[in-house]
Amino acid sequence: MADGSRGELVRQVQEALEAQGVMLETEVWRGLEVYDRRLVERNREVNLTAVTDAEGVYWKHFYDSLVVLGFPEVPQAGSLVDVGTGAGFPGLVLALARPDFSVSLLDALRKRVWFLEEVSGELGLTRVRVVHGRAEEYGRRPGWRESFDIATARAVAEMSVLAELLLPFVRVGGVAVAWKGPDVKEELEGARGAIRRLGGEVEAVHMYELPHGMGGRSLVIVRKISATPKEYPRRPGVPEKRPLT
Ligand code: SAM
Repeated sequence: MADGSRGELVRQVQEALEAQGVMLETEVWRGLEVYDRRLVERNREVNLTAVTDAEGVYWKHFYDSLVVLGFPEVPQAGSLVDVGTGAGFPGLVLALARPDFSVSLLDALRKRVWFLEEVSGELGLTRVRVVHGRAEEYGRRPGWRESFDIATARAVAEMSVLAELLLPFVRVGGVAVAWKGPDVKEELEGARGAIRRLGGEVEAVHMYELPHGMGGRSLVIVRKISATPKEYPRRPGVPEKRPLT
């Protein structure tokens, strides 16, 4: 993409974020440009993402990861774990945007973890820890369990499974945030029992649209109101095979 049209794209994304109350320093935009370049380059060798055109990366990955910062239930500082982060969405983008977050990026796929180590090093993000592993295991570990202010996940699992993967990480009083498609109502209804059993309560569902027909999103915010019972999360693979009801 030519520099002029990239500049215009960045300006549009910046304006859209500002309209949602999300302001970013110039440094952050520079960091996102480096991230975009490295993502597209490494994606030729390793399968990191299906979205690699500049419009797609800036809207579907960067804007979609950042818009959460405009919602009042989400703190602007503290510890955050991004479960099934893939190529760093939303976790690495949030780490770049907010210097007061300390961020753990967790993924079960080693090749994606290597990419995240490379790009977070290049961006000088010393507050980012990249870990190869499964949420079902890390959610039981001391130092991880009930230790985070925020746990996030995008495109990882359906809501009742996600509740079991995310809520064990969240300290009582913190939030789990799930990025979902536009029609989340039924999925959410089916997950209410699981969310309650794991110590959560749905606090808000924010709907928004990506531009140029890129699709609608629902951001589900679950507050942790009591400790997660010891038996959760169950063994790797079980939450998905036998979702809680
Ligand atoms: N969150 C990223 C995004 O929105 O672009 C990646 C989404 S990708 C479809 C799902 C990712 O979740 C994969 O990288 C996969 O390895 C990871 N994943 C799925 N289940 C997981 C689990 N139980 N623990 C850790 N990572 C998991």
